[in-house]
Amino acid sequence: MQNFARVINGGNFVTSKFNEKNSSTSPNDEKIKKESSFFPNAVLGKQADQLLSLDLNISKNEQYLKPNSLTNQVSAINLPKKVFNQSKNKNIQQINKKFKDNEIKAQKEEDTKQSFQKNTHKTFKNNVIESLPKKNHNTASSKLNSKKNQFNSKRLDQNKQENGISPNAKTAISKNQLSIKVAFLGGLNEIGKNITLFECKDDMFLLDCGMAFPDGDMPGVDLVIPDFTYIEQNIDKIKGIVLTHGHEDHIGAIPYLLERVNLPIYGTKLTIGLVGAKLKEAGLLRKAKLNVINCKQHIRFGCMRVELIHVNHSIPDSVAVAIHSPAGTLVHTGDFKIDCTPLQDDMIDLCHLAHLGNQGVLALFADSTNAERPGYTMTEQKVIESFQNLFYEAQDRRIIIASFASNISRLQQIIHCAHRYGRKVAYSGRSIISYMAIAAELGFLNIPEGVIIDIDLINRYPKDKVVLLTTGSQGEPMSALTRMAYSDHRKIIVGPDDFIIISANPIPGNEKTIGAVINELLKRGCHVVYESMYDVHVSGHACQEELKLIEGLIKPQYFIPVHGEQKHLRKHAGLAKAMGMPDSRIFIGEIGDLLEINKDYIKKIGSVPAGRVFVDGSGVGDVGNLVLKERKHLAEDGLIVIVAVMESSGNIISGPDILSRGFVFVKESEPLMKEARRKAFGILESHYKRGKRELGAIKMRLNEELSKLFFDKTKRNPMILPVIMEI
Ligand SMILES: [Zn+2]
Ligand SMILES: [Zn+2]
Repeated sequence: MQNFARVINGGNFVTSKFNEKNSSTSPNDEKIKKESSFFPNAVLGKQADQLLSLDLNISKNEQYLKPNSLTNQVSAINLPKKVFNQSKNKNIQQINKKFKDNEIKAQKEEDTKQSFQKNTHKTFKNNVIESLPKKNHNTASSKLNSKKNQFNSKRLDQNKQENGISPNAKTAISKNQLSIKVAFLGGLNEIGKNITLFECKDDMFLLDCGMAFPDGDMPGVDLVIPDFTYIEQNIDKIKGIVLTHGHEDHIGAIPYLLERVNLPIYGTKLTIGLVGAKLKEAGLLRKAKLNVINCKQHIRFGCMRVELIHVNHSIPDSVAVAIHSPAGTLVHTGDFKIDCTPLQDDMIDLCHLAHLGNQGVLALFADSTNAERPGYTMTEQKVIESFQNLFYEAQDRRIIIASFASNISRLQQIIHCAHRYGRKVAYSGRSIISYMAIAAELGFLNIPEGVIIDIDLINRYPKDKVVLLTTGSQGEPMSALTRMAYSDHRKIIVGPDDFIIISANPIPGNEKTIGAVINELLKRGCHVVYESMYDVHVSGHACQEELKLIEGLIKPQYFIPVHGEQKHLRKHAGLAKAMGMPDSRIFIGEIGDLLEINKDYIKKIGSVPAGRVFVDGSGVGDVGNLVLKERKHLAEDGLIVIVAVMESSGNIISGPDILSRGFVFVKESEPLMKEARRKAFGILESHYKRGKRELGAIKMRLNEELSKLFFDKTKRNPMILPVIMEI
């Protein structure tokens, strides 16, 4: 219950404060603190004194312009005019001054190019500010544009006459300026640690910052985070991080990044709430700059403007992003599906995506997780029917449901269903407690009065009046369900009176572990329902028809499949091809690729430092590939240690002794061990007799000869560790 002591500012509070700041003239940053009571009141009332608050730092008001605010629109139109006139005069003065001297022609040409680039940068900047409140001031904006164009052509003529830039050179320069670069730092050829860096001119921002869970190749590793080297190298240019939603593969590495660089973070209410809890746990909340952004609001990163677009996924408050840049508009779907009847929030904003498509989208980055699955992902409503049937079928048994802690819509359905059937709900598992608390506090969970009970009280109720929500749908070794299956749970003992529903599909690679948990539960006489038996889970990702629909609406010039293993990316590319997208306009990337996109081409222009960093215990990055290789070697073939104590004269005082761990049981392999000892003795003796006493050489020979011996006799390759002490 200690974990309930995590509280976050109410979203409404933050939003209203934020609006206040928007209209306020004071640019001062101020921290907003709020201590609030917390769900579920009945259970948590007693913990009120433990409740802590999160600070949500509201950034400077000039970073946002609310699309519907007339005042902002007017100021947005006026501002660029002023700036524009100033910069116009300044530019002409600069040009006149710079090119007075006609003597050094070559140098002059170079200067002209630079000056041209600089001027054009300024023009773009003005464009972006003007285009923000596009809807209601088209006339004003177009007047301004035509004025600006006149000025541009005048200026170009002037440049041409004075400095003799050829039209070709001019085109080359403008091509360079109109590119957007994308560095893939994670999330390709893997499902996990999504992180992408977008760059236009000298401005950069990060999209997502996730972690990945280790696979079987990484013994002992707790989690995997992206390599932040490239971010640190470019920290002066990076303006912030935008988050698409609150899943670990999109926000999990933020505490590790913030320990190194303190970038402002932007996301929707729930996403920021979850990040806040994470940062609080890591002791980083005080200095974090968290910003709650609503859909359709814009975040400005220098010349780029990022807009959030509502999508459906397995966690509420998920968004896609549109990146408006001088080089064109990019759309990144984030994780999404199309659910026309979602349980909690609205349907995906297809209208706005289509609108962007009509305005012209340069490139689409799209979720490939389910690219291999035909058809459509089912609506979450389908799961409600299944749950109702299962609750009926459970009759007088206790219901235990394992689900992803982050699948808040699913948890909501279960709570509704329990309420309808007159059952109380208790939670077990640290992450489920944390997610439920934050979601309820921010208004994403509707919990009827008196439904939630403390897990300690669960045995006071008859079994048919209880539902237990738990983690462990993937068979994770430390999760509550696994502990129940192996009779290792402190509070819950399962048996024939339990009706257990596993409401999640196994993530590829987890099938075996979850299978073992199901078998254990069945052995104890529990009734177990899992994925293939009922529709107790629907995916959070779009299937083929939805992916095609999104591409059809957005009509991008280029297509980049993301968020998937190679097979998912390829399949997704195949869908785009089937819709008529030529190969030359599809890019399948790899982690570390630096991609350049403009109206003329899409191509990889280089590589950046990227990869995986292992977190093991409190160590970040100290376990490298070499350590992992050794761990695997030890795990697969075991260890042999040879110990000997020598006199410098060459007498063997003690040993050589052979110790074995994980290779063979010494007692049962006495003849082999004897032979190994004899061999080691011979090697030591021969080296000392010949006066060749370099320990390195002796150890190497022991290693070689004994490896050969063990391989010949056992066909195994244990790790050999010679320890020789000379006295
Ligand atoms: Zn997700
Ligand atoms: Zn994801």
